[in-house]
Amino acid sequence: MGEFDLIRRYFQRLPGSGVEVGVGDDCAVLVPTPGARWLVSSDMLVEGRHFLSTVDPARLGHKALAVNLSDLAACGATPRGFTLALALPRVDEAWLTEFARGLWALAEASGCPLIGGDTTQGPLNLCITVFGEAPPGQALLRSGARVGDEVWVSGRLGDARLALEVFRGTVVLEGTGFEQVRASMECPTPRVALGQALRGIATAAVDVSDGLLGDLGHILAASSVGAQLDVDALPRSAVLAAQPMALQHQCLLAGGDDYELIFTAPPGASMPDVGVALTRIGRIEAEPGLRVIDARGASIDHGLRGYDHFKS
Ligand code: ADP
Ligand code: MG
Repeated sequence: MGEFDLIRRYFQRLPGSGVEVGVGDDCAVLVPTPGARWLVSSDMLVEGRHFLSTVDPARLGHKALAVNLSDLAACGATPRGFTLALALPRVDEAWLTEFARGLWALAEASGCPLIGGDTTQGPLNLCITVFGEAPPGQALLRSGARVGDEVWVSGRLGDARLALEVFRGTVVLEGTGFEQVRASMECPTPRVALGQALRGIATAAVDVSDGLLGDLGHILAASSVGAQLDVDALPRSAVLAAQPMALQHQCLLAGGDDYELIFTAPPGASMPDVGVALTRIGRIEAEPGLRVIDARGASIDHGLRGYDHFKS
């Protein structure tokens, strides 16, 4: 199979509304919503660094798009389309069929069509760029947190990191508990509807890709504020809650790959109901830095930080 047959077979489908020209020409042609702002983000997934070579290809297709949609969600954007730049070591039709199935399922569920890309031979590498829209002035940014705001998180934290530790061999977990945390790691749900529902409510937002401490730290730095965080309030699965406390703290605070939203909002703000649990986990303070306490108010010296590709 040649390059163009491959693109046609796996990556070309009739584009939906708002896409005048999709896959097949030199550029895609998108129809902007009058007055809206474009929000654009890219995320690359490299084999061995972001995923294991043994991962189910349908889950990989899902995750490649999910991590990008999560960035749109963090900014409160409505997804409009995405491009896919793909390096493949060889044409493996069984692999491509499954990869495309996972990718298209999430694309269709999110109203975010594939509008173009690039395909080349090389070590397995995936780079997606997503395009979204928001009304002027309504994008959720990292810089809007104010002293007195409450800090919230969606869903649950830490399961993806727990699964990673099982793959690394530092934790033993079997059966349905392992399958559950493994699905969190391999098949995250981007909080796209929540992000849009938080326009006009959240003062700042970020998605958790590198760990709660690091990602909340981005809001604090951009907003020139500090925060107090209640580690006992952090929402966790029963599987994680059954682990030793030090491991729980590591997974919750410095886990990463959660793709939940952390956001800030004034006290008393009414929270949207989009079918995902929202938990209040702390408060924005004037004093710079992040203070982690437990439910009794005792401070936790965690010694943990967010993930950084260029620090060991
Ligand atoms: P060009 O050489 O003009 O850059 P290509 O030959 O690379 O175009 O691609 C042909 C068409 O297929 C273009 O519309 C491009 O956007 C699309 N395309 C290529 N690879 C992919 C992919 N992996 N997924 C979606 N569309 C793709
Ligand atoms: Mg061209």
